[in-house]
Amino acid sequence: MAPRKLIAGNWKMHGRASSLAVLETLVDKHLDPACDVLVCPPATLIARLAGRGVDIGGQDCHWEELGAHTGDIAAEMLADAGAKAVILGHSERRADHGETDAMVARKTLAAWRAGLVAVVCVGETEAERDAGQTLASIAAQLAGSIPEEATAENLVIAYEPVWAIGTGRTPTLAQIGEVHDFIRESLETRFGNGAARGIRLLYGGSVKPGNAAEIFGVDNVDGALVGGASLKAEDFGAIIAAA
Ligand code: PGA
Repeated sequence: MAPRKLIAGNWKMHGRASSLAVLETLVDKHLDPACDVLVCPPATLIARLAGRGVDIGGQDCHWEELGAHTGDIAAEMLADAGAKAVILGHSERRADHGETDAMVARKTLAAWRAGLVAVVCVGETEAERDAGQTLASIAAQLAGSIPEEATAENLVIAYEPVWAIGTGRTPTLAQIGEVHDFIRESLETRFGNGAARGIRLLYGGSVKPGNAAEIFGVDNVDGALVGGASLKAEDFGAIIAAA
């Protein structure tokens, strides 16, 4: 049986007062969706938004529990603030902060130590796709970023082609299906069928109300990681409804 779908919103470095309306709208509608919903605001808003009826997550954490790391946040601190999950290895963090697969793997272990679900992001660049290297790139990121202790409960994987993020461009449904099938098969080889079938595989990159339903119809797509459209209550609500 396919796992229950998950729609996750990545607010990135957005979400001051006006965006709080998104969450309030979701909660006020007494949303009882047929899928799980996760909203990942900037860390400063986690404590304020947690416990209001929608699961809240972080967008990054450090791999250590405490220490001299100015500006960083430990997974335990996210959990203390009420987070249930954390996005790790987003391509913007890999680009802006030089995060490597090895660092993402350590952060994933830290998330699990703190009891958080790790939403690990992988995705090819446009140059890699043009060079026919998409699956090789995904394979390397999966192997390097995901520790052995992965289970269906503690891990979600988001496939986010770097060139589709925030651009309005999306892969074809066949291209999305090819990568999701490949990820599922890789997980089965590594973790066995039981765990691999339950690990949710999200698609991310320019998901909007107009394309959500067709993307959710692709085999092995178990939901979405939504950036821009998660900042608008109406759009995010429509994507949730499409799941
Ligand atoms: P986008 O971002 O939906 O704005 O393309 C997705 C993401 O970066 O997670």
